[in-house]
Amino acid sequence: MKNQELVDYLSSFGVCRICQLRYLKARGSEYRDVKKTFQKLEVTVDDLDNDDDDELKQEPVKKPRLANCSLCLGLFSDSFQQDLISRILSSDFAKYENQSIVLAISMPLTLQIRQLSMWFALQRKFGSPPIDQNSSPDVPIKEAVKLILHPIICKQLGKEYDANGLMINIELKHMVEKDEVDKLTKLQQEAFPPHRNQKRIEISRGLLEKQYQPSRIKLELFEKYFTIPPTTEAEPLQLESITLTGPIVCVAGRYRKLSRELSHTPWVLNGQRQMEDSIEEIIIRNISQHFTEEQGNITFMSSGREDVDVRCLGNGRPFVLEIPNALRLSLSKQVAYEMEQSVDKSNKVSIRDLQVVPRDQITYIKTGEEQKKKHYRALCALKEPVTLEILEKLQISEPFDIQQKTPIRVLHRRPLHTRPRTIYSLRARVQRDNLKSLVIDIVTQAGTYVKELVHGEFGRTNPSISSIIGKPIDILALDVESIELDWPPQVNNAVEN
Ligand SMILES: [Zn+2]
Repeated sequence: MKNQELVDYLSSFGVCRICQLRYLKARGSEYRDVKKTFQKLEVTVDDLDNDDDDELKQEPVKKPRLANCSLCLGLFSDSFQQDLISRILSSDFAKYENQSIVLAISMPLTLQIRQLSMWFALQRKFGSPPIDQNSSPDVPIKEAVKLILHPIICKQLGKEYDANGLMINIELKHMVEKDEVDKLTKLQQEAFPPHRNQKRIEISRGLLEKQYQPSRIKLELFEKYFTIPPTTEAEPLQLESITLTGPIVCVAGRYRKLSRELSHTPWVLNGQRQMEDSIEEIIIRNISQHFTEEQGNITFMSSGREDVDVRCLGNGRPFVLEIPNALRLSLSKQVAYEMEQSVDKSNKVSIRDLQVVPRDQITYIKTGEEQKKKHYRALCALKEPVTLEILEKLQISEPFDIQQKTPIRVLHRRPLHTRPRTIYSLRARVQRDNLKSLVIDIVTQAGTYVKELVHGEFGRTNPSISSIIGKPIDILALDVESIELDWPPQVNNAVEN
């Protein structure tokens, strides 16, 4: 089988030049200059003299509408490519600021049926060998799309190809598809009869790739349902839909919670909203617009959380937003600063260090959560004035361990356990204007229930501050003073640069 013979045969059944090159096993760049590649392979083809350069110089001549290639149904034709590009450009493409794209093209099954049909035809014409039983004689369409269409689309759109870029999902249809899938279902029944207990088999791309080869299916049976070789079609492939999916962008920062009446996430009890707003909502609504139109799909994560009535001060608590289908991946210092300012206006939450972070870093927010130290300041009340003895008992700089049962207030959502926790230090002072009040700075292991550490909860936490001083003591207010996590890095967005 000479190259020339193969090309002449394919030509006579309406196979386009690009598909012919696929059967000559052309590689990547060889599809770019079709004429040169045919010359290199010593194949003469007559209709390539009228190439693009000449066409540009002359008045465009209206060509008669040609039948579409029997193998790719026009997928590799110039007109299809132009159509595809203009459809992409008329989608929301311009809304996305991505520098890179990734293509996901879903093709009708008929292209795979046609590939098998031509495989049979070539075997019949040229024998086996040279046409192999088990490995297909062409560069498969899926691979050819990567070699041919991807570079063209990237070039025309002026974008790089990158698996993490804006995903362009392209769905192709052809009018023969339904009819051919029906035939295929019948062929499947006959060629691979299902076992008695086998469920009905779905015809899929994977199934075609695996089972539909000359070594597994008889030519005569295939020909009962499909033409060998495949025929050209007057109708080209149709672009059924183009949908765009932006990449995921992650935005991190630190928040300070300034209100004692604010929940972490929307607080709903028996279908009733308990509080008007939440940290999550305030942050998301001030940040999301820059990145996406789909606020509802954003995930908010933080390194731990506070109770509704607990403030979080100091440098704040690290958080990160995971924003899917992002329109852009960048965040300038100026825009970040504006976002920080608008969150601050809520007077309930304040944020800082706002920045885009690599997605693989978001696990940092959860790592070492149990080991970290947390710094708290608690305002506590005694029933009697504070004595020097009490103050001395609450100056502890050596770490000590406590045993803490799951507090009753969280038993509805946490299992009952007794956990050991380390208290690193305690330091108490009398509040200036109330001699029955104590301000206690507490450094604990993460995961300690601080309210229970103070009053002991009827001995469920032992020892407790109450048991240490031997008196009942209540907690009036609690602030988180700092969370030891060096992530995300500190940035000052207010600085001009
Ligand atoms: Zn073709």
